[in-house]
Amino acid sequence: KTLVHGDQRRLFNTSNSRMTIMPAWVIDRYGSNDVLRFTKNAGFPIINYPNEVIVQVHAAGLNPIDVSMRGGYGAATMAMKRDPLNINQSGSEFPLILGRDMSGIIMECGLDVAPAYFKEGDEVWAAIPPWKQGSLAEFVVLSANEVSKKPKCLSHIEAAAVPYVAATAWSALVNTGGLNKDNCAKKRQVILILGGSGGVGTFSIQMLKAWGAHVTVTCSQNAECLVRGLGVDHVVDYTAGPVEVALRALEKFDLVLDNVGGDTESWALGLLKPWCGAKYVTLVTPFLRNTDRLGIADGMLQTGVTVAYKALKHLSKGVHYRWGMFAPNGPALDDISEMVDAGKIRAVVEEEFTFSQVPQAMLKVEKGHARGKTVVKIS
Ligand code: NDP
Repeated sequence: KTLVHGDQRRLFNTSNSRMTIMPAWVIDRYGSNDVLRFTKNAGFPIINYPNEVIVQVHAAGLNPIDVSMRGGYGAATMAMKRDPLNINQSGSEFPLILGRDMSGIIMECGLDVAPAYFKEGDEVWAAIPPWKQGSLAEFVVLSANEVSKKPKCLSHIEAAAVPYVAATAWSALVNTGGLNKDNCAKKRQVILILGGSGGVGTFSIQMLKAWGAHVTVTCSQNAECLVRGLGVDHVVDYTAGPVEVALRALEKFDLVLDNVGGDTESWALGLLKPWCGAKYVTLVTPFLRNTDRLGIADGMLQTGVTVAYKALKHLSKGVHYRWGMFAPNGPALDDISEMVDAGKIRAVVEEEFTFSQVPQAMLKVEKGHARGKTVVKIS
């Protein structure tokens, strides 16, 4: 049964046979940057389910998780998501294509994709779940509900800087943190973002300011200008001395978004308003490391015990402890797209690389000290 409709000629090459290969950066094993390999012969994506679309990638955004996954981070959980019945041999994920952010043009739609939602030629953006083949390739296949129409006012390069951090921020702040466009201003939510200058921080600042929250961030002194330009109300330079001392002198917070981790948990929950429903949401969690180290069953058990223990411990002090996780979310991207086109959120592209410079782009992300996003132009 064919799962596609529409003008299929676009995906046929001049000899009129269906394209089976495409250029991509792949890895064949986990390791440091030298495992990245460019090939013109990567497998062309196939529509396996009728709700899928094939997108021609114009730009791919990179995230810290690409560097981590290159080294094998999350391999156990991703293997389970790709192959829940454990039928395939270990290593069947290779050649693996990294790249979680994508902006491009729909080339082919599955039969269940209603033309009212998506059709060939639509400009779309998406955050690609880590268990799927990524965007460092000319084409990618995604579920239609992971894809959203790209904001009209952004170039593909700019659009590829947004989806993964936006979906993560939405999951952490909206789904886990309970914030939304109605309650931020009405309830005068006072928010602290630990780590305001990177991808998640620069996006979260703008979304929260657009919704009318009061936003304080921590960042290095040389990022102050960037975050102030995004609308932050108060900046604390974490390199100037013990950051928790400076933060304790401020009004207490309704929500802390932690993009930093490490020792932050030992003091950040003390910055919350007690017995008011205030929440600490951290994005730096041991979930995937636990499953890598202990296997799926024991790793998930360990994760459940850890998060339940911490949540209960902090609940007794009147504050909520939560873990934030990336979750693919096309409908959230629709809302964000509207905010971008309304001029409320802009893409923060720190550096742009060509397709041949993918190893350099990965090294840039690996070095840290991001000031926004690193993006690769694909076509
Ligand atoms: P980036 O690398 O884009 O940004 C990190 C930023 O934090 C940099 O600007 C860095 O700049 C700054 N920083 C480093 N140390 C500190 C500190 N002690 N205090 C304040 N700022 C600091 O990362 P992302 O924004 O993309 O992601 C943030 C974190 O969230 C990462 O750890 C990432 O792995 C995690 N994450 C988790 C997800 C999940 O599903 N759980 C999903 C997405 C991200 P400088 O060093 O110059 O100060």
